[in-house]
Amino acid sequence: MKRRLTTSLLAALIAVLATLAVSAPSARAASTLPSMSVAPYALLPTKTALWVSVPSGTVVTVRHAGGSLIGSSTSVTGHALLVLWQPSGSRNSYVVTAPGYATSTVEASTSATSLAGALWRMTNKRNALPSTYAPSGLQTVGSRQLTASAATAVRQLIAGAAAAGLTTGVNSGYRSYASQSALYDQDVKQYGQKVADNLVARPGFSEHQLGLAADLTNAPCTNASCTTTTATGRWIAANAWRYGFILSNAVGKTAITGWQSEPWHVRYLGTSLTAYVHARQIVTEEDLFGLPAAPTY
Ligand SMILES: [Zn+2]
Repeated sequence: MKRRLTTSLLAALIAVLATLAVSAPSARAASTLPSMSVAPYALLPTKTALWVSVPSGTVVTVRHAGGSLIGSSTSVTGHALLVLWQPSGSRNSYVVTAPGYATSTVEASTSATSLAGALWRMTNKRNALPSTYAPSGLQTVGSRQLTASAATAVRQLIAGAAAAGLTTGVNSGYRSYASQSALYDQDVKQYGQKVADNLVARPGFSEHQLGLAADLTNAPCTNASCTTTTATGRWIAANAWRYGFILSNAVGKTAITGWQSEPWHVRYLGTSLTAYVHARQIVTEEDLFGLPAAPTY
């Protein structure tokens, strides 16, 4: 009896050791690989961005859940940006891999709900916002309104300028579809439609409707040429990225943005993305997200 028990115990022990020998290496490798943060951002009804946090120089690859390759991108300033086409109103799974990291699966949505209030929501002359688009949680800065994150950032920017001995403020912030419509109609009446279309966005095409864009003051200067030569204007151009802003109606980029040079117009994207923009010396949002130029409607 005792001998039979010893034999069966020994057999069980051998079986356990054999199982460990087979499963241990892969189990250990999987458990020790660090995970990476992958955040989906809705850009447009047919565009999603994945923002992957991995050390600079790491090549990040994204595939469809079925395994087919979509593309890859190299991390800069600790982040890789991947912009993906995705059917409007859909929910897709993506598989993200990078050497030395555990594989990550992320779900991204291009539903109207996901696009509403999305931090990186794009609009330009080729991409309209719905007339009903209105951000929630607006906060007041001076006499203007911005979304909470943009309001906090612009207050910090104003304080940063003040610390450098310069004065700026918010001349224009959130504009509803209706107020943009009134502004556009007024300019059409005053200058004619051709000129007005370079000066002010048609309703539904302004970043101001996102609640993420601000026109900064630079008294007494009110035009592009003095903005680019005054100390305040130069400070804004050099430092806006530190506060999470891009000068999206960039000087000399009308053929891409569709807008006249507006060095006072800043759009909030968050500091992690604008640090990436700054490091890569990207100027326009169209170039940043790989979107076609939008010179006309
Ligand atoms: Zn503006």
